[in-house]
Amino acid sequence: MQVLKNDERDVAKMKKISIIVPAYNEEESLPYLYERLNKLMDSMKQYEFEILFINDGSKDNTLKLIKQYREKDSRYCYVDFSRNFGKEIGMIAGLDYATGDCVIFIDADLQDPPELIPELIKYWEEGYDDVYARRRSREGETFLKKFTSKMYYKVLQKMTKVEIQKDTGDFRLLDRRCVNALKKLRESSRNTKSMFSWIGYNKKEVLYDRDARIAGKTKWNYMKLMDLAIDGITSFTTSPLRLSTWIAIPTFLMLLVYFIYVIVKCIVTSTAMQAFQAIILLILFFSGVQILLFGIMGEYLGRIFNETKNRPLYLVNEYNGKKEMNE
Ligand code: UDP
Ligand code: MG
Repeated sequence: MQVLKNDERDVAKMKKISIIVPAYNEEESLPYLYERLNKLMDSMKQYEFEILFINDGSKDNTLKLIKQYREKDSRYCYVDFSRNFGKEIGMIAGLDYATGDCVIFIDADLQDPPELIPELIKYWEEGYDDVYARRRSREGETFLKKFTSKMYYKVLQKMTKVEIQKDTGDFRLLDRRCVNALKKLRESSRNTKSMFSWIGYNKKEVLYDRDARIAGKTKWNYMKLMDLAIDGITSFTTSPLRLSTWIAIPTFLMLLVYFIYVIVKCIVTSTAMQAFQAIILLILFFSGVQILLFGIMGEYLGRIFNETKNRPLYLVNEYNGKKEMNE
């Protein structure tokens, strides 16, 4: 009896680590992930673990596998979305449902090695709030993807005053106070990477080699990446709006100069035809500029529209086997 009480007290003292895994059609990768996470948990008995899957409307056996794991081991938990909401939304749901003293985001395809987690935890114990893993190499990714990602970081950093971590994905450990801070950012077009930078706190970088995906196919395509990149820029800064001013000023100067030129030429040579052509050119040119400006404004209007709808970010079908009633 006495022994049991001591045990209980030990469990109460143990720090809890939530590992959040967004998963969308990952039936091929999950068995490998399960194995490696179990190994990790066995090697770190001094912590209590919670593996929180966010099943993002998978159409394959992902949910079935997760349920099997939970039956065998109650440390495996899951949130099952009512449909596919995308990884970014999956991550905020993970933060909402995680119960740990810190959380770790990890991809289901094992591109982020779970073996790095002890190092992340080590720095957390040293007092860092946000320990992020920075890629040293990117195995199995095309030259084009690497190149575009590099350019994207460069452009984003130029446009904003908040410091952005380079070559960093979502693989990171966050202390409870970062989690609480992130939970307060409820905007609907989410770019979690920029939010990690925005919240600040003590950050620590850990280098790692990014592996190729273990099985299955990537769910990203260039359209999705473009979407994410544009979201990233517009959610971070309004400097693209200034772009319109930069374009407008020289355009008006050009208009003035050309206008004077045309008038003077008309008076001197009395040829109407050339001026007519010039006007057509000008009309074309300025409608081009206007379209561009409208495009930029539309970008922000769209965001305002999305935010004012104030919808819940996601809907949950069930949590750990219990149906969610959305009350
Ligand atoms: N993912 C998700 N919802 C989606 C797309 C992806 O939860 O709509 C998950 C996916 O299961 C994986 C992680 O997000 O765990 C990263 O996805 P993926 O490997 O396809 O992206 P990449 O590594 O190629 O950037
Ligand atoms: Mg991947």
